[in-house]
Amino acid sequence: MSFTAFPLHHQLQANLQACGYTVPTPIQEAAIGPVLDGRDLLGLAQTGTGKTAAFVLPILQRLLERTGKPTPGPRALIISPTRELAEQTNDYINKLAARTGLRSAVFYGGVGKAGQIARIRSGIDSVVACPGRLLDLVQEGALTLTNIRTLVLDEADHMFDRGFLPDIRRIIKLLPKQRQNLVFSATMPAEIRALVEAILSAPVTVQI
Ligand code: AMP
Repeated sequence: MSFTAFPLHHQLQANLQACGYTVPTPIQEAAIGPVLDGRDLLGLAQTGTGKTAAFVLPILQRLLERTGKPTPGPRALIISPTRELAEQTNDYINKLAARTGLRSAVFYGGVGKAGQIARIRSGIDSVVACPGRLLDLVQEGALTLTNIRTLVLDEADHMFDRGFLPDIRRIIKLLPKQRQNLVFSATMPAEIRALVEAILSAPVTVQI
C-alpha cells in the first residue's frame, strides 16, 4: 500500500514525500487507521520499525482537524524515557508538521526552564517530554495538561527500567479522563502489563 491510501491532510502527504517515505512500514500500516479513528493502541515494537511515524502522523492529522475555539495548553502529549528519544521524536514531529502551522515543543531536565516556559507561553499544540521536567512545569503552573486529547507512552518498558512509573501515574492523574491512549513497548514486563490494563480502553494491539 501507499501513504496516499490514508486520509491525511495534503501537507502531511507532501511532508511524507519530502522525507522520502512512500510505503508505510508494517506498524504504520496497522496502526495509522485505528489511531486516526481515535482508538487506544498497544504497539509491541522496537525502535527501527517506524513506530514514531505510526503515532506522529495520525496525531498531527487529528490536531489539524480541531474544531471550535483554541484551548489553553497542548492537546497531544508524548512521554519519552530519555532526552535523546524526546529530541528525536520532536525533530520527527517538526519534519512531518512542516508548513501545517502546528507547533511542538520538547521538555526535559538538565537545561534551564526559562526558555521552556517562554515556549509554552508562545502557544503549543503538542509536547514531547521526559516525566520529571513535565511534572515540574505543571506543578509550577507553567503548563496545563487539562486539554490533552491524546497521550503516548513511548518505550514504556524503559520508563519502568528507569523508575519513572510513579511519575507516569502522577501525570495521568492530571489528564482529562476522556482521552486517547497509545502505549509502545518492546517488551511486556508485569508492571507494564498492569499499567496498560489500567489506562488502555478496548485497545487495538499491534505486534511487529
Ligand atoms: P523509528 O522506528 O520510528 O525510530 O524509525 C526508524 C527509521 O525508519 C527512522 O530513521 C525513520 O526515518 C525511518 N522510517 C520510518 N517510517 C518510514 C517509511 N515509511 N519509509 C521509510 N523510512 C521510514
